[in-house]
Amino acid sequence: MAHASCMSTGKIGFEASLATNVLKTGKCVSCGACIAICPYACLQLTQGKPRLVKECQLCGLCAQACPRYGFSQTQLENFVFGRNRKLDEPFGIYRQLATAQATDARILQRCQDGGVATALLTYALKAGHICGAVAVASSREKPFHPKPILASTFEEVLECAGSKYTCSPNLLLLSEVGKQKNGRIAFVGMPCQIQAIRKMQASGLRKQIDCIDVLVGLMCSGCFTYEGLMDEYLHGEKKVDLNEIQKMNIKGKLLLTTSRGLIEFPLAEIKRYQQKGCSACGDFSGELADISIGGLGLNGWSFAIIRTQKGEALFSGAEQAGFLRAKTVSAGDKALDLLGKLSEKKRKNVAAA
Ligand SMILES: Cc1cc2nc3c(=O)[nH]c(=O)nc-3n(C[C@H](O)[C@H](O)[C@H](O)COP(=O)(O)OP(=O)(O)OC[C@H]3O[C@@H](n4cnc5c(N)ncnc54)[C@H](O)[C@@H]3O)c2cc1C
Ligand code: SF4
Ligand code: SF4
Ligand code: SF4
Repeated sequence: MAHASCMSTGKIGFEASLATNVLKTGKCVSCGACIAICPYACLQLTQGKPRLVKECQLCGLCAQACPRYGFSQTQLENFVFGRNRKLDEPFGIYRQLATAQATDARILQRCQDGGVATALLTYALKAGHICGAVAVASSREKPFHPKPILASTFEEVLECAGSKYTCSPNLLLLSEVGKQKNGRIAFVGMPCQIQAIRKMQASGLRKQIDCIDVLVGLMCSGCFTYEGLMDEYLHGEKKVDLNEIQKMNIKGKLLLTTSRGLIEFPLAEIKRYQQKGCSACGDFSGELADISIGGLGLNGWSFAIIRTQKGEALFSGAEQAGFLRAKTVSAGDKALDLLGKLSEKKRKNVAAA
């Protein structure tokens, strides 16, 4: 990957860059990159958004890291793949497509779709390719409240299996990741978080991200605020005991698997709790990741878009070592059609914003 100096935004303070152009305009996606990158610890996450708690030293690094400031998909695509997508690549550049499923019953029991994210991390850890992974567990106090962790054992990776549909500031962990002296780290996150890491790589911000080896992106139509979806809607309005929820899923509806059975809610009712910054997001499938994974309506399987050589080595290594079983995807496949449609729909968001 060549260094893309054009992504540099120069020395500009937080107020003039992110506060004015990202926070005040409602574009912030609560990723935490600006907070983790600030060398003077000037920023803190308050109610999901960064806030100045010390005098800004005007170094400009937070602006260079933010995926919603001075972001160019075209430049970053070129940085990652050495070229831009062609017209017939509606969900970005890739080398291979597959549907896949973990082979470990413990993963299949906890995972969201086919357990591919967890199986890939498990393989990479066990094979010694990585010493840890940024992934999202649930907090012990609040059910399904996302808690980003640096998982370094199978048990920790397994604990993170399953989607939490509310925003997780995964990039806050970059400060911890930057302290790793030996060993490589995998990162699992939403497309906007992958964009932030690619932007940092392209800007030459190495300190916090140098040990990140592989980026696993999750497909995403949008995420919700915890206060809105869980507290106000499910607990407050629908009187759901949040402790009873065993699994959350979105497949045309919001589906809750609970100790009392399956409960369904229309998506139209929860739309208002979507994070505001998601409405201007154009990336459904994690187009800058090494591997992207989604459910796409499949039952018990995940859909994988293997985009880079690194992604290919990870996926085929996991398959050959027996951590995954995989099937090829053919033209006309229902999930493939859906992927094209959802990618197109999301790209229109950017045009409309
Ligand atoms: C907010 C959100 C919206 C999504 N929307 C869609 C969609 O519209 N269409 C679609 O096909 N797929 C969507 N997905 C992806 C899908 O839900 C599965 O995560 C994906 O198919 C991988 O399944 P798996 O069984 O392989 O993952 P698993 O093996 O179960 O692993 C799940 C991984 O997701 C990570 N994770 C969980 N919650 C979060 C979070 N809030 N933020 C970041 N990482 C998290 C965990 O760290 C874990 O590594 C969404 C996921 C999320 C979190
Ligand atoms: S990284 Fe910190 S010091 Fe630098 S501009 Fe941003 S807030 Fe200010
Ligand atoms: S999008 Fe991320 S980097 Fe940008 S202001 Fe929000 S939290 Fe900070
Ligand atoms: S819709 Fe876009 S901005 Fe919102 S969480 Fe998903 S990838 Fe991030």
